[in-house]
Amino acid sequence: MDNVIDRSNGFIRDELTGFYDLDSFKLVMKEHLDKIEGVETAAIVSTDIAHFERVNNLYTRKAANKLLRLLAKELFQNNFNGICYGRSVADHFLILVEDGRRDILEKRLQMFCDGFNYMIRDRYPDAAPRLGVGVYIIEDVEECCNEIVEKVNSARKKLRYVKQSNVAFYDEKRFKKAMHDREIEKHMVYALTHDEFKVYLQPKFRIEDKKLVGAEALARWVPDDGDMIYPDEFIPLFEENGMIQQMDFYVLDKVCKMIHNRLGSKKACIPISVNQSRVLLKSETYIDDISSVIKHYEIPSEFIELELTERIFEDAPEEISSIMWDVKKLGIHWSIDDFGSGYSSLNLFKSLPVDVIKLDKGFLDEAQISRTSKVIIRKTVELSRELDKKVVCEGVETEEQADYLKGINCDMAQGYFYARPMPMEQFERLLDISAS
Ligand code: C2E
Ligand code: CA
Ligand code: CA
Repeated sequence: MDNVIDRSNGFIRDELTGFYDLDSFKLVMKEHLDKIEGVETAAIVSTDIAHFERVNNLYTRKAANKLLRLLAKELFQNNFNGICYGRSVADHFLILVEDGRRDILEKRLQMFCDGFNYMIRDRYPDAAPRLGVGVYIIEDVEECCNEIVEKVNSARKKLRYVKQSNVAFYDEKRFKKAMHDREIEKHMVYALTHDEFKVYLQPKFRIEDKKLVGAEALARWVPDDGDMIYPDEFIPLFEENGMIQQMDFYVLDKVCKMIHNRLGSKKACIPISVNQSRVLLKSETYIDDISSVIKHYEIPSEFIELELTERIFEDAPEEISSIMWDVKKLGIHWSIDDFGSGYSSLNLFKSLPVDVIKLDKGFLDEAQISRTSKVIIRKTVELSRELDKKVVCEGVETEEQADYLKGINCDMAQGYFYARPMPMEQFERLLDISAS
């Protein structure tokens, strides 16, 4: 973005549109808000053109600039009482509006977007750009301008999810969640490099004789200065920002290291399963990466099992299947996690190299296992046995559930009734006792 300095007051304006740059906009906005008195409210609007990138890529930069200039001109000539105009970056313009009455604003902005979208509808047919706006109503005119801009940006980002409207209002809950996520993200790199992540292991028992026969590795985040954070809070974030690869390989590395050390001191070992995010399978080096960890620690691959949640087979099952076969050739076992929670269940038996089925804990959620759940569990166990696959039932919390599973010859169980996930050292002690 090229900028020019306004000689009259030192504020910086964007050369393309003549609007203030972000910093100057904030200063000018502050001046305006200071002038507003009493209970009067104002609002801030932020624009977003969906598919603007495509206009840039499929047409020319010049064409994209023309679109921006047109939007700037239309915004400036609007009738929703804009009093100061800025451009933060690309297609994101900011407008301070004098009138903060939500209903009126919503109607006017919707009309504006409709009008603009109608105007450009035939100009970039391959890109199909569409204007939308995020809105934040400023009730406290003394609120910090940085925060006001962050809030309207948060409203603008909501446009991605609300497809039926071109106007999205600020939502406090969303904003707070985004702030919380950002705090976590900021801390993440530090955490990964300073061993704040811990690998917990949850034992799996053979139901028949309650023998310890396996375990699942589960990630925990234990910040130096705070309470433990559970995976549900950070895994989705890591999947979004790509750090999940580092995380999942970190867990695999710790597990392989433990097995390597135990084998080295002639201690008993059992297979440990490690969760694999769908993002990992998209990496071209995935198979080599897995293979090099196993080689590095010189451990027999039979001690490693990888878990993939059933839901990932909803997209591109053929690609996943071919990766699974390649990993299987390394001697590693595959386990299908959360089995029964998606739609694709039975097909999975056909073409995938699956060794273990993990029945989703949802089947045991009710206080008493329902008749339907019982039938599904029993039939899955029967089917798996005939197809030479093992079944682990997850989330076993009561003796009654354990007894039922024993009665139908289910192979293994994992759940609070048997043992909770525990730190590695504690698990190793348990394994030592169980093997003695
Ligand atoms: P999951 O793979 O289905 O793991 C089982 C979850 O159920 C674990 O939660 C475990 O603590 C919990 N659980 C075990 N027994 C019981 C029980 O009897 N009752 C109930 N109510 N819960 C039980 P956790 O550790 O919070 O993990 C949640 C999810 O986060 C995991 O679900 C898994 O999808 C994901 N996750 C955990 N660690 C990793 C990791 O290292 N990488 C990846 N990609 N995902 C992970
Ligand atoms: Ca799992
Ligand atoms: Ca599961």
